[in-house]
Amino acid sequence: MKTLSARALAIAPSPTVAMDARYKEILAGGRPVLSLGAGEPDVPMPEAGVQAAVRALREGKTRYAHMAGLPELRSALSRKFHEENGLEYPPENILVTSGAKQAVFTALTALLNPGDEVLIPSPYWVTYPEAVRLLGAVPVEIATRFEDGFKLTPEALRAALTPRGKLLLLNSPCNPTGAVYTRAELSALAAIAVEADLYVLSDEIYEHILYGEAAAVSPASLGPEMAARTATVNGFSKAFAMQGLRLGYVGAPAAWAKAMIAVQSHAAHHPSTISQYAALACLEAAPGVLPAMRLHYQEAREYALARLREIPGLRWNDPDGAFYVFLDITAFGMDSVSLAEYLLEKWDLATVPGLGFGREGYLRLSFANSREVLAQAFDRLEQGLRALAPHAPA
Ligand code: PMP
Ligand code: GLU
Repeated sequence: MKTLSARALAIAPSPTVAMDARYKEILAGGRPVLSLGAGEPDVPMPEAGVQAAVRALREGKTRYAHMAGLPELRSALSRKFHEENGLEYPPENILVTSGAKQAVFTALTALLNPGDEVLIPSPYWVTYPEAVRLLGAVPVEIATRFEDGFKLTPEALRAALTPRGKLLLLNSPCNPTGAVYTRAELSALAAIAVEADLYVLSDEIYEHILYGEAAAVSPASLGPEMAARTATVNGFSKAFAMQGLRLGYVGAPAAWAKAMIAVQSHAAHHPSTISQYAALACLEAAPGVLPAMRLHYQEAREYALARLREIPGLRWNDPDGAFYVFLDITAFGMDSVSLAEYLLEKWDLATVPGLGFGREGYLRLSFANSREVLAQAFDRLEQGLRALAPHAPA
């Protein structure tokens, strides 16, 4: 038989998703495994969203809708972009998608030609380079340094530029590092993007999950030249804990948005109408629900960091946003896949190896869990790592 797509064969399933599938399989088999693996909210979605979804079903809102999303949702998202992010995407420049993951995919599909280079600061969210590769474009990973808080510097960006460079991918707050760029840092990168005529894709899905003084800044708000070249991705999976309902969105300059809408009209038609009604209600309920959500993750973060400080041999940057800690595990003398395997098999604890995020020597933990789960999970992590202590430097 003839071979399958070389591009599809060249990629592996998402390591975060694969680890989650494995964790759930083990759990279903009766082993009491715990997960600090895939990052997903542990809290329920807002009740207003649940009510709206049920109502939409009852009212028979089950027919095809507009290919770019419900008009009232696109209008609400246009207002949200304006009020919360200082962005001016009119409703017709907004595409509602089945998750932010699909928003990223559709934005890339509408933009990239084979051979185009996409600049991706690493560590990165697992899906970015694979999505770029699937399209026949070329991911150019730019390694960031632990000492710089894993943030891309203007010097590193400049050094990675070639005439084929087309798009810069930014993700702040960052999965997996928790890094949050300041306005000044983003402005310095934006100046280079404009000068080098790069498009920018800004994934802002963790914008509401912030700690301390950290603030979310949208690159597209940094001036008209950035607005003209930047697509902004967001979604309902994190802030509104609606991850299973698969709803995301992207705002983009007119031509890019038009191309995305055409792509989606063939690839998906539109995301679930029921999820869109739920999302609309969640947006309206946001002021009432987001503070409690933020507090929940703040408390989980404090607890997780306190527990990590008790374990010798680890090093990390405290996350300023999102709900991950990216742990330097090099002192334990094991590669990240072996260490994750060891924790899973010997200590019944799922984590995600740094390798999938483009950085060997690290493990990613998600602290989006209840205190009860975190307490047990960190007991296991501590015992598992202490058992390896002979390998750690004194
Ligand atoms: N971007 C980042 C950085 C993420 O961590 C996630 C979570 N999986 C997504 C996008 C996609 O989220 P979803 O498809 O669930 O909206
Ligand atoms: N964003 C989550 C994570 O990084 C969910 C899995 C995924 O979509 O990658 O774990």
